[in-house]
Amino acid sequence: MSDSQTSSPAKLPPGIAVCGRQDAELARRTHAESPHSYRTPFARDAARILHSKAFRRLAGKTQVFTRLPAESPSDHFRSRLTHTLEVTQIARTLAAALGLNTELAEALALVHDIGHPPFGHAGEQALDHALQAHGLRFDHNLHALRIVTWFEERYAAFRGLNLTLGVREGIVKHSRDYSAAAHPELAEYFLDQFPPLEAQLIDLADEIAYLTADLDDGLDSGILALPQVREAVPLFRGFHDAVLIQYPAAAPKLAVNEAIKRVLNALVTDLLNEVRARVAALGATTLADIRRAPHRLAALSPQLEAERAAAKDFLYDNLYNSPIMEDAHSHATQVVQSLFAALIADPAQLPEDHRAQIPTEGLARTVADYIAGMTDSYIEQAWLRCGGS
Ligand code: MG
Repeated sequence: MSDSQTSSPAKLPPGIAVCGRQDAELARRTHAESPHSYRTPFARDAARILHSKAFRRLAGKTQVFTRLPAESPSDHFRSRLTHTLEVTQIARTLAAALGLNTELAEALALVHDIGHPPFGHAGEQALDHALQAHGLRFDHNLHALRIVTWFEERYAAFRGLNLTLGVREGIVKHSRDYSAAAHPELAEYFLDQFPPLEAQLIDLADEIAYLTADLDDGLDSGILALPQVREAVPLFRGFHDAVLIQYPAAAPKLAVNEAIKRVLNALVTDLLNEVRARVAALGATTLADIRRAPHRLAALSPQLEAERAAAKDFLYDNLYNSPIMEDAHSHATQVVQSLFAALIADPAQLPEDHRAQIPTEGLARTVADYIAGMTDSYIEQAWLRCGGS
């Protein structure tokens, strides 16, 4: 037996993976298309997402830093695009290690943040508040679904990307479960069941990617200090100590990089082991077993989940909501709210294709759809054109 065979961890029972032929329903598209001679339905979906305009716009959307901190020592912070690619790398690793459908996992990872508005969390909150005054809410999963089913225009025969049901279900169920009573329009997405593991794993891949990346970017920005991270994030401290013993002469930034790399590996490994244990404990051997399990099966172990939650709380208090970020957040809120108000007051300023949506979607939703699609720099320009200052 070779090393790779002895060391490769167990895959899940093969019936659990989503398979294009076996699960024909999940490979179904809204508009029937001929099968491709050598590409699977989910690989085609990953490509459709990668080639979409909304995907390219992720390059201009904030992940954490709305504007670089004044006199920033670094200009290589994550954007939503690079974050998305990091999530995709982790998701493919997880799916491959468990014997799941890597192409479906890749498509879901590529699309998972496509519904986010400009200016990160602050922009999303401002848009949601603006909509609430009209009795509506902004939800980035549902906006992502609108992008792939309507706003993207690449086909002469229909609007949208005509993605498979499996990918659309994963979009709807990213990090939350909707009730069928509250969302009758989502009836085709099996709302009474959990999504396949390929979709469940995206939430965790997302958490792992941004936790480790934000420690990295937070330290690089100077907003977080190394002693502070060591004190508040024991998982980081343990690996950082080990690195300092192994490489006592390593430059401080290299020691941090080594430690963050190990944190990421520890979280991924723990997640793989926990999923295997939960699947085994349930005796699950088919996708139907995963769908009808008493809870989502993709999770970290209780110990690492507690460490992850503590690290996330630390990042909220000391990075995302730090006083240094306040100016950027209030600027984001002002730009989104005043542009929203200006467009509601004068819908003639909306582009023609958006104006055409008003009779069916209503003015407030149409304005929100337009704003949500913008990049950070585009919304700044639109705001200035509307008299913002
Ligand atoms: Mg994300």
